[in-house]
Amino acid sequence: MHPTPAAPAVAAGTGRISAVASHPHAAAGGGWSGVHWEYVVPIFVVHALACLALLPWCFSWSGVVLALVGTNVFGAGINLGYHRLLTHRSLKVPLWLERTLATVALCCLEDTPTRWVATHRLHHVHSDDPEDPHTPRDGVGWSHVGWLLRRSPDRRTLAFFDRYARDVIADRYYRFLERHPTTILWIYIAHVLVFALAGLLVGRLTGGDWDHGVRLAASWIVWAAFVRTVLVWHITWSVNSLSHLFGYRTYDTGEDSRNNWFVALVAAGEGWHNNHHHDPASASVRHQWWEFDLTYCFILLLARLGLATDIIRPRHVRRAAASRD
Ligand SMILES: [Zn+2]
Ligand SMILES: [Zn+2]
Repeated sequence: MHPTPAAPAVAAGTGRISAVASHPHAAAGGGWSGVHWEYVVPIFVVHALACLALLPWCFSWSGVVLALVGTNVFGAGINLGYHRLLTHRSLKVPLWLERTLATVALCCLEDTPTRWVATHRLHHVHSDDPEDPHTPRDGVGWSHVGWLLRRSPDRRTLAFFDRYARDVIADRYYRFLERHPTTILWIYIAHVLVFALAGLLVGRLTGGDWDHGVRLAASWIVWAAFVRTVLVWHITWSVNSLSHLFGYRTYDTGEDSRNNWFVALVAAGEGWHNNHHHDPASASVRHQWWEFDLTYCFILLLARLGLATDIIRPRHVRRAAASRD
């Protein structure tokens, strides 16, 4: 499944982590002790801050454009950086670019690279079975966000990371993030301050006074940072929920993955999820002409710039090439 020798258990598709309770999701225990406050608080706070977008004083068209463009730019940190590059190793990029993409992903507050990769590889190995961290078989709300709100001590062990993300945690930068996870918060605050400063200066220059600067800064903070973070969250979560519930199935993959055009549209191609489960190693999830894959277009652009190599083609292309050799 993952064509890297650094992740042998997952590559073979045979690795299984034994359940630590009658149902894996019961591992954290019920009640308040099982609530994952480190995730609940930021998810609630950023949603609340994004609601400031409803105030007319916080509105600007440039803020809206930044939110929409930013959803794709910062979303690429997740879709390209965390998913196709770090999880599936579908291409190679220079280390500085890989770490840059991972840092962009950190600005989406979707956990450390090691945890994201390990959890997603677990999802591929156990898709829609009881050990899947976020199968809709445990509830639609659970698959969308509920699974993030409950503690999962079985997915916080060194043994789990060693099994599912050994290649990621071997990197000094990713290991540092694992040891100092509050770094994510500082990176997020820093990127909010960049939007604030840029809005302040642009507003001052275009509006003629600092009042305009402060207002544009507030608009950019709310729209370009908070609204955009919420959008990227729900887009990523929709791949886990909607793309395992609604859509067509091209392949009988033995689980519930679907090709969902809406999720594909908003998630830069990631919604062609049945194609992805059929061939997780491929850098492209476009198997039909209408299955547009924006993330793969970005990968091809990187290749054209000489920044992406060893791009893994779809399985039928790989097989055709192998039969010619
Ligand atoms: Zn899936
Ligand atoms: Zn995947």
